[in-house]
This record gives sequence, C-alpha cells and structure tokens, in this order.
Amino acid sequence: MKFTMHDNMGEKMTKLTGRYNIKRTLVTGGAGFLGSHLCDALIERGHEVLCVDNLFTGARRNIEHLLDHPRFEFMRHDVTFPLYVEVDEIYNLACPASPIHYQHDPVQTTKTSVMGAINMLGLAKRLKVPIFQASTSEVYGDPNTPLQHESYWGNVNPIGIRSCYDEGKRAAETLFMDYHRQHNLDIKIVRIFNTYGPRMHPQDGRVVSNFIVQALRNEPITIYGDGMQTRSFCFYSDLIRGFLALMDSDKSITGPCNIGNPNEFTMIDLAKLVLEITGSSSPLVFGPLPQDDPKQRRPDITMARDKLGWNPEIQLAEGLEKTVSYFAELLKTSYS
Ligand code: NAD
Ligand code: UDP
Ligand code: UDP
Repeated sequence: MKFTMHDNMGEKMTKLTGRYNIKRTLVTGGAGFLGSHLCDALIERGHEVLCVDNLFTGARRNIEHLLDHPRFEFMRHDVTFPLYVEVDEIYNLACPASPIHYQHDPVQTTKTSVMGAINMLGLAKRLKVPIFQASTSEVYGDPNTPLQHESYWGNVNPIGIRSCYDEGKRAAETLFMDYHRQHNLDIKIVRIFNTYGPRMHPQDGRVVSNFIVQALRNEPITIYGDGMQTRSFCFYSDLIRGFLALMDSDKSITGPCNIGNPNEFTMIDLAKLVLEITGSSSPLVFGPLPQDDPKQRRPDITMARDKLGWNPEIQLAEGLEKTVSYFAELLKTSYS
C-alpha cells in the first residue's frame, strides 16, 4: 500500500519513520554538572535524550532550558533500581562526584556505582546497544607515578573514606569489562580527570568551585594541607568532546581511556590564579589535609590523542574566567 502526501495515515507513517531515524540516547546523571552539558551536546547533534536522575546532587535548573524541548525527556529515577526503557545508546554518569557528597552516604555511593552499573549493563545487554561509563582518575588512588597511564593499576586504599567512590568505580569498570568479554557488549569507559566549569554546584566542596565562590565573596580561600598537592584541570567542553569522540570511535576501542588536561597545578597555583582573575583580596588559610587525599594527578593522554584524535583546547586561565563569570551571575540569584 502506497501513501500520498494527502493521506493522513501516510503523514503519520512519515513522522514515525522520521522519529525512528533519530538516535534515542539515555543519559544517567543527566541533571548533574557534566550530564547536563552532555544532554545539551546530544540535543545539538539531533538526538532524542532521555535524562534519568534522582536529583541527589543534580539540579532541575541545570536542565531547565531543555524541559520543553521536543526531543528531551526527564525521568526522576534512582539507578540502583532496574530501569526498563527503549533506547539506542546509554551514557552512565549517575554518581555523586565531589568528596563531601560521595562521603555523605557512602553505602549509597557504592550501591550507585555497582548496582547502577549492573542495571545499566543489563539494560544495554537486553537492547544490544553501546554503553558508556563515566569512570574516574580516582581508580588510580594516590598514584605513585607522576604521569598516570591507563596501564597503571593504581594505589587505592580499599577501606578508607574515599573507598566508596574509588572502589565503586573500580568495580564498575570490572563489570563493564566482564559484560564485554562475557556478553560481547559494546562498551566505552572514560577515566575523567578533574573537570570544572559552569553548572558545578556552588556548595559541592570541590576545589575549583570552593575557591571561586570564596574569592567572589572575599572570604578566606581554604587550602587543605600545604597546598602543594597537584591536580590537572580540564574544562567541561573539552571533556564532552572527548566523550562523544570515544562513543563515535570504532567498536574495538573500549577504553579505559584517560580524558583530561595534562597541565598540572598545585592548589596554591590555583588559588593565586583565581585571586588574579576575580581581583579578590581573600586571604589564603590553611586547614588539615583530608584522609587519603592524592598528592599528585596528571593524565597520560597518548591514547586519547592517538585513537580519538582528541586534545584539550581550553587552558586553565581561560576556563577559569568563564567559570568565574558563571558563578558571579549565580551568586546574584537566590541560589547563592
Ligand atoms: P554531579 O554530582 O554534578 O552529577 C552526578 C549526577 O548523578 C547528579 O545529577 C546526581 O543527582 C546523579 N545521581 C547520583 N546518584 C544517582 C542515582 N543513584 N541515581 C540516579 N542519579 C544519581 O557530578 P559530575 O561532576 O557531573 O559527575 C558526573 C560523572 O562523572 C560521575 O559519574 C562522576 O563520578 C564522574 N566524574 C566526574 C569528574 C569531575 O571532575 N567532574 C571526575 C571524575 C569522574
Ligand atoms: N535490567 C534493567 N533493565 C533491563 C534489563 C535488565 O534494569 O532492561 C537490570 C535487572 O535488574 C537485572 C540487571 O539489569 O538484574 C542485570 O541484567 P542481566 O541480564 O545481566 O542479569 P540478570 O540479573 O537478569 O540475570
Ligand atoms: N582542596 C582544597 N581546598 C578546598 C577544596 C579542596 O585545598 O576548599 C584540595 C583537596 O584537598 C584536593 C584538591 O583540592 O587535594 C582537589 O580536591 P577536589 O575535591 O576538587 O577533587 P579530588 O580530590 O577528588 O581530586
């Protein structure tokens, strides 16, 4: 049977066919800092996006601009419970990421990483669709090598206060690799190094948001320990480009793949840069170093460069300026 343009049924069929040509993507943790930027990038690419989040650390305001979009749908759901939906690919980002949040309810953090991974892998297995895991440089723990390559197994305390996050993410990587080997699942694992930018939660306790908010309020900048520990900071837009490049890559590239900016800074360097950019007169104050706080962190990004053609483009000063502008606006609103 052939439909014409004037045939109602034909129009419906065309619409339906059109809809099925659109990739439907599930993003767990989609109302969080990184998840909401990923939702934006996927919408921009023409996908339908199903954003699943329990709003533990995420916020409706991060996705407010998408709520009326015809290709966007939000579902409040906790990934530790099974999820039966129909999608073409899955990005699994659900998990609190800042130390104060993941240590607030450590049992729930491990459950989110492990049971969340099992449920999302079960979903990917049933649907036979690719699945992406947001892993972390924390799988390297407190590394005893200055540059962390994917082949490094890490130096992780299994029973400390960071373990719920570190070991949860390590177990999730194990599950991803085993579903790949045992069930031939198409998997992609990214190990994210400290990433910052607009939509970070102003009170989530991470160093970039803390320093900027403190500087903007002319309150003391809180340096933990002597401030000589290092981190390598990646701007969110570079990271999201890396996510998409990994998901677009050949099936044989499963990761784990480091994505981060290899330029390394001490926390003192960071504080000085934030003071310079904000023009703030906040003093530096020193407090105790949290237990198991890694002394150094710097990604070896050879794999991302060679296999994905990915390179970070935004350096710290430029990224901080954009982030400072975001927080300056936010602090003028009721969210402050
Ligand atoms: P975030 O806290 O802003 O986002 C996490 C999101 O997951 C939040 O929206 C939260 O509500 C949601 N969530 C938490 N538990 C959930 C559950 N049980 N069910 C459903 N949703 C749940 O943090 P982020 O920085 O956007 O991190 C996103 C992902 O990237 C996390 O998996 C994190 O471990 C990983 N990561 C981030 C960084 C970074 O520097 N930002 C570094 C390494 C890894
Ligand atoms: N699951 C889900 N959605 C699905 C399929 C599975 O949430 O569409 C969950 C379900 O809770 C299941 C888990 O994923 O226990 C793992 O699924 P799998 O098929 O690997 O193992 P099962 O436990 O079913 O033997
Ligand atoms: N940090 C700090 N002051 C703060 C918050 C954090 O000096 O107000 C330090 C923290 O001890 C760590 C580094 O900054 O050494 C990065 O901390 P963050 O929580 O951002 O990330 P992670 O430790 O998970 O890399």
